[in-house]
Amino acid sequence: MNGYAGKILRVNLSKGEVSTEPLTDKMARDYIGGRGFAAKILYDEVPKGTDPLGEHNKLVIASGPLAGTLVPGAGKITLAALSPATGSYGDSNMGGHIATELRYAGYDVIIVEGKSTYPVYLYIDDEVVEIRDATGYWGKGALQTETLLKCSLGDDFQICTIGPAGENLVKYACVSHDFGRQAGRTGTGTVMGSKKLKAVAIRGSKSIPLANFNEALKIGRELFRDCMAHPALKEWQDYGTAGVVEWANEIGAFPTRNFQSGYFEDYKNLSGKVMRKHIVKNDKACFCCPMNCGKYSHVKTPTIEFYVEGPEYETTALVGGNLAIGKIEDVAYINWLCDDLGMDTISAGNVVGFAMECYEKNILNKSKTDGLELKFGNVVATAALLHKIAKREGIGDLLAEGVRFASEKIGKGSEKFAIQVKGLEWSGYESRNAPAMMLSYLTSDIGAHHNRAWAITHDIAVGRDQVESKAQKVVQLQHIRPMFDMLGLCRLQWVELAIDLNKYATAFKAITGIPYNLDDLLKASERVWNLTRLFLLREQGLKGKEHDKSPARFYEERVPSGPTKGKVISKEEIQYLLDDYYRLRGWTSDGVPTMGKLKELGLDVMDIPQDILEAAKKPVAVTPKTPPKKASFKEVPAKIAEKVPALKVEPKKPIQPSKPAAKKPAPKKAAPSKPAPKKPAPKKAAPSKPAPKKPALKKAAVSRPAAKKPAPKKAAAPRPAAKKPLPKKAAPTKPAPKKTAPKKAAPSKPAPKKPAIKSSPAKGKKAPAKKR
Ligand code: SF4
Repeated sequence: MNGYAGKILRVNLSKGEVSTEPLTDKMARDYIGGRGFAAKILYDEVPKGTDPLGEHNKLVIASGPLAGTLVPGAGKITLAALSPATGSYGDSNMGGHIATELRYAGYDVIIVEGKSTYPVYLYIDDEVVEIRDATGYWGKGALQTETLLKCSLGDDFQICTIGPAGENLVKYACVSHDFGRQAGRTGTGTVMGSKKLKAVAIRGSKSIPLANFNEALKIGRELFRDCMAHPALKEWQDYGTAGVVEWANEIGAFPTRNFQSGYFEDYKNLSGKVMRKHIVKNDKACFCCPMNCGKYSHVKTPTIEFYVEGPEYETTALVGGNLAIGKIEDVAYINWLCDDLGMDTISAGNVVGFAMECYEKNILNKSKTDGLELKFGNVVATAALLHKIAKREGIGDLLAEGVRFASEKIGKGSEKFAIQVKGLEWSGYESRNAPAMMLSYLTSDIGAHHNRAWAITHDIAVGRDQVESKAQKVVQLQHIRPMFDMLGLCRLQWVELAIDLNKYATAFKAITGIPYNLDDLLKASERVWNLTRLFLLREQGLKGKEHDKSPARFYEERVPSGPTKGKVISKEEIQYLLDDYYRLRGWTSDGVPTMGKLKELGLDVMDIPQDILEAAKKPVAVTPKTPPKKASFKEVPAKIAEKVPALKVEPKKPIQPSKPAAKKPAPKKAAPSKPAPKKPAPKKAAPSKPAPKKPALKKAAVSRPAAKKPAPKKAAAPRPAAKKPLPKKAAPTKPAPKKTAPKKAAPSKPAPKKPAIKSSPAKGKKAPAKKR
């Protein structure tokens, strides 16, 4: 089966069994890979009404057919499960190197089912698959565990782990990989914790069969040339997504003080340039990526020292502006803490921001916060609260459930500023004056996440107050962007470097031999979108537009400050946007895919509950003839995004501009009890891997894409794996208790043939990257 490893690995933790099954041609054609495979498997195999933390939920780790090939950004993987945060389909996409390793080990997908009674990790070394004891790792941080496993197994294993937050079933626990890449959203780390699965370690040595080697090589090179020639590349290599911070403030979209505003007065202290100057030590890339958007940072104060990947934009937005923390070292500290505790920085920033607003409004006080002074800007209190959440101590136990649940418990009007959709906390764009972006958050299948349709640039391009045409753009993006998750690719090369989408279809055809064009791939993406909608309706019931509901803050409160001051989106506008969206999707006015749409996509043959089938018989939604009138308020220039003069803090506003709490990033007592990680990669050090051996290319197959261009040291993508991170004796000494399916003895491998993808210098001139 060209382009695919051709096998699904199934691991049952209750029975301690491992088996493999073939990937079918139909599955590949209909669902492509990654997120498509995950949605299909979970819909078919997780019964309606399953407890997300119960034995019958499954964790799917799925790569796509382009992962591990020569296509730029070919290092993405999807982790998915019935989400404990939303109670519906949930997934998260992660970069790094583990997608590649999984494919080289001979598998497209891992399905983890059942539950272990004691902590375990999954060991995969080609055909050798074992469920190993992880008791010695339980309770340790995610970053620390990765270090320990690398010491124990070898640096050539690619590893993903959970931290204490996952073990303690915090609903927004993430899965961590490559010392700073995370599958952050929807609680896939929580599902791993519920299964007592601490980590997955993979090493592979196989090749990926290609349908047409020469064509695959040609299109891969062409795509690389396109990337290297784009003028925005240099900016991305220098600042990564942190370069978006200034732009987001200048358009009034930067979440500030729990989304009360879209403008943070201290934003310049958090910019990509400040970050680069003060804390960044190295650039870091996922497999086969010339953009190296990862920034590896180092902070040292009299009380603490740590290395962290980031902060990237979303983290800076949610634990910077959203908590009114205005110092880059402090944001990096909270970032590092979340990474090691193993929780999603987006949800964690929302949860802490929500608690701070409750405190500000006297809904919570010290008697209810275990004595913590939860004022905006208080770094020490933020760190202490995150520890409590990860351990589920005191107030942390409630907040570990996420803002939807916490606000329902706390009441007193706090539901209005619980910033979430479908139970998932909102990511980094305040959208009251961006109807397309607002619609993309409301209709995202996993809840309030930006990656499905990042439509804010469309708002800016066609008019931020306008609601017409917005739904069309959102639908289009919701097919294009998830397509990358299905292919196993990063989308940033397309978004930021304007890569022609048709070239991805060319690559897909050359690699798999499936003669699809771009429209065919987008049709598959639409199929998956409708399937996850069915999943939502099946698990959460027929609730009409309630599924796609905005937090009240956005239609009841005008933006108090910044370039969008006075803006609000009305309920009528939201209603209009949803009706238009449902119509374009071929859904009923209650947001149910019609029978016609299900048949068109071949989904009518799925096992669909009777109540959904009845609801699907209703007609397609109709867009109201005239859009609602805009509520009157002071207009803001439409082209504000293009040129924003020095914006000043509004002196009178209902929120207190709080100072960055401490001058020191964090006093000793707030620091985690674990020692700071040892230096993973000193600045001067070359990547910790041995010099790459360029593999001999087999006929019609590619081993590892060899990066031909030697990259300057600065732009190289070093592995941050510490060479001597922690004493080896700290690793558990237990032998593997349950060896399951060692078809042959573990091969004693030579040094890994990792090609160490390097970046080449940018050719283009500087042009600020303003999008994401
Ligand atoms: Fe990874 Fe960033 Fe490259 Fe995407 S652009 S593959 S996230 S390094």
